[in-house]
Amino acid sequence: MLVAYDDGLTTHLNGVPHPERPDRVRVVADELRRRGMFGERVDTRVARPDEIERVHPASYIELVRRTCAMLGPNEATDLATGDVMVDAGSYEAAARAVGATLVALDAAVTGHRGTFALVRPPGHHAEPARGMGFCVFNNAMIAARTYAQDEGKRVLVLDFDYHHGNGTQAAAGGGVSYAGSHAAPAYPGTGDPRDNRVAADAALVNIPIDARRGIATEGFIGIHTRMLRALADRVRPGLLVVSAGYDVVAGDPVGDLGVDPSFARQMGRLIREVADEYCDGRAVFVLEGGYDPATLAACVAETILGFEENTEVEKTDAEAIPAAQRALVREVEAA
Ligand SMILES: [Zn+2]
Repeated sequence: MLVAYDDGLTTHLNGVPHPERPDRVRVVADELRRRGMFGERVDTRVARPDEIERVHPASYIELVRRTCAMLGPNEATDLATGDVMVDAGSYEAAARAVGATLVALDAAVTGHRGTFALVRPPGHHAEPARGMGFCVFNNAMIAARTYAQDEGKRVLVLDFDYHHGNGTQAAAGGGVSYAGSHAAPAYPGTGDPRDNRVAADAALVNIPIDARRGIATEGFIGIHTRMLRALADRVRPGLLVVSAGYDVVAGDPVGDLGVDPSFARQMGRLIREVADEYCDGRAVFVLEGGYDPATLAACVAETILGFEENTEVEKTDAEAIPAAQRALVREVEAA
């Protein structure tokens, strides 16, 4: 699989103690290289402001640029819009994360295949005018919006991160649908399933999972398999954008729903199946959370292997999905 990555993505929060640290992507890159899976690595690029403006207003982009430009070599501060720490390198790194995602999008669209943007900072909490939760620019949504506007086709964003993708949901619509699971109660507190709606142009599906109980791996896979198959059939997307967050995995220092790292391979298989059936193979994976670098590295590798092996998703028992989530999945299937 083509992976968009280079060391320019490690300049954000370099030397600042923070869970969203440069080692996250560096360790993944080392693991992919070690396994011989980095043969299709491509360099990233820094996105232009007009590309970032597909989702974010110019005033917010300028706020990020100015905040970072004012900082000295060993300084860090929170963005004025909320809980996002930035340092002198953060604007360029965040614009590079967008650029890397657009490089991955181009390759997916022209090659009719799956690509992976191995980026940080992550993006799914970033609302149009407000960075939040470690996220500066919404990488996944910028790619989704770019494709929907340029190609005039629908896009389905699937988010399997531990946390709700509030920023992506806020910017969805106009041919971009959003669907995902998230832990609740948990940051950022959004994603009420009572707002769920299944419509071809602007579907919105949130499936909260009890943060205190967690979920069995089979149940997690079962939710996504049934939700994604049913929704893709309604939406008929030309592209899948996957907000690939791995903080659901057991032991993650920020998230942790008790899910086994093997889930990543099943997710890769599932997304391959749906991308092949509806999108001529086009799928762009965009890294979101996952805060234990070694586990993150294993999971990213497994997702890529799952996507590439062309094997069916393992059948899951409906009973493995807890009753509350099963009811929500059935609503999507019946819509
Ligand atoms: Zn997360």
